[in-house]
Amino acid sequence: MNGDKKGTLALYWAASCGGCEIAVLALNEKILDVAALFDIVFWPVAVDAKVHDVEQMADGSIDVCLFNGGIRTSEQEYMAQLLRRKSKVLVAFGSCAHEGCIPGLANASDRRHIFATVYHNNPSTENPDGIEPQHKTPMPEGDLHLPVFYDTLRTLGQTVAVDYYLPGCPPEVERIWDAITAIVGGQLPPAGSVLGVDTTVCQECPRVRNEKKIKKFYRPWEIIPDDTTCLLEQGLLCCGIATRAGCGAKCPRVNSSCIGCYGPNDGVHDYGARLMTALASMIDSNDPEEIDSIIRQGIPDPIGSFYRFSLAGSQLRRSNRSTNGNPPDARRLHDGH
Ligand code: SF4
Ligand code: SF4
Repeated sequence: MNGDKKGTLALYWAASCGGCEIAVLALNEKILDVAALFDIVFWPVAVDAKVHDVEQMADGSIDVCLFNGGIRTSEQEYMAQLLRRKSKVLVAFGSCAHEGCIPGLANASDRRHIFATVYHNNPSTENPDGIEPQHKTPMPEGDLHLPVFYDTLRTLGQTVAVDYYLPGCPPEVERIWDAITAIVGGQLPPAGSVLGVDTTVCQECPRVRNEKKIKKFYRPWEIIPDDTTCLLEQGLLCCGIATRAGCGAKCPRVNSSCIGCYGPNDGVHDYGARLMTALASMIDSNDPEEIDSIIRQGIPDPIGSFYRFSLAGSQLRRSNRSTNGNPPDARRLHDGH
């Protein structure tokens, strides 16, 4: 962007919860500054521009696109490709676009079992005819189409080339503003970078740290931690040791463990592996059976604990696909098979 000319901005929401859209609105009065800097040419939740309006734009005519959400459907894949083509700078905005986040945890299952849970085996669903969404439904007036629901959720970066990543679930308002001002001021790091800080949540955390030796992990409801000592030292699985800073250690400041929403630091290829390695060095035992018991009892949901935000973007990506009608085995994913 240059001179006094207003830039153009697009925002899009794929497989995500919508929290990233709220995070943009949480800019509060700064949203007026955004509107002064950019014409918002596409933002389905807030601006009445249609997909065909984007299709008619010249390639590269959108200065910046903030794209949140992973890619679960054919429609989301099409929009990712379209907005990539139309945008000079494509930002994977938030954890879902960056790493898959909670929607990506469904990669521990597959389409068939997701549909079985959502449309059939669900106490709040009444579906006596066993109807499921169809890609094509013939009607007298013509065929109706729904997007294809893919077996595996992909991150934005696994789908199209991404220029920058803005982590967080959702990204903190201050980091969003930092990113906008960096884009406007042309002070961007090399393409492919994460916009943020390359250190860990522990570095932002005010809690007192001593030697970390863990004999037992507690579930959050089992203890009330003191509000000054490192939560990990108190036996709570705090992921701050492996998580990129940028939020100001928001969760540990309110007596809640970091669950890792900012993802890994630069140079870490697999967040879960990094976290497991860090924890392994802190377990106070040399006995493999005792170590196994400490982990199994204290961390009963390894995927949800180590890959809560990053399964789709990890080196694992997904569990083995189901065979013989059995659901994929989530435990086998954890064991690396
Ligand atoms: S409480 Fe969590 S974020 Fe804070 S120092 Fe301990 S491990 Fe790090
Ligand atoms: S403390 Fe951890 S989970 Fe909480 S906002 Fe920060 S990075 Fe996310």
